Amino acid sequence: MKIALIAHDRKKDLIIQLCTAYQPVLEKHELFATGTTGLRISEATGLNVHRFKSGPLGGDQQIGALISENEMDIVIFLRDPLAAMPHEPDVTALIRLSDVYEIPLATKIGTAEVLLRGLDAGFIDWRHFYNSDEKDNLEPEF
Ligand code: PGA
Repeated sequence: MKIALIAHDRKKDLIIQLCTAYQPVLEKHELFATGTTGLRISEATGLNVHRFKSGPLGGDQQIGALISENEMDIVIFLRDPLAAMPHEPDVTALIRLSDVYEIPLATKIGTAEVLLRGLDAGFIDWRHFYNSDEKDNLEPEF
């Protein structure tokens, strides 16, 4: 699965804690992140993270574009609800696209944990049916 990880500045320590705690889960998947978030995560955990531009410089839009191309399966976006962002329209657009394409999205730590535990338990396997590359490899389970 392809997982996008994004955290606003005051949430970056939190996403590092999350990625540290769930490293055994995350390392089984393809990780993507906005620039600074990705750098912080890979420095702190050693996880392999594909980094896009920093959020304010277009990183949120790059991840949104992947969602629209069916190239993202999960979004964890720990946003700061108490700070004004210059790229607020990009933040809104990313969340909107997650809704448009029915991509599981967490914007807070509790939901993010549920999402990662659900992922590990197979609750998001339905995403394989939307991924044409993997659809052919799926075998029905009886
Ligand atoms: P950053 O971007 O990871 O580059 O800080 C996150 C954001 O502000 O959307």
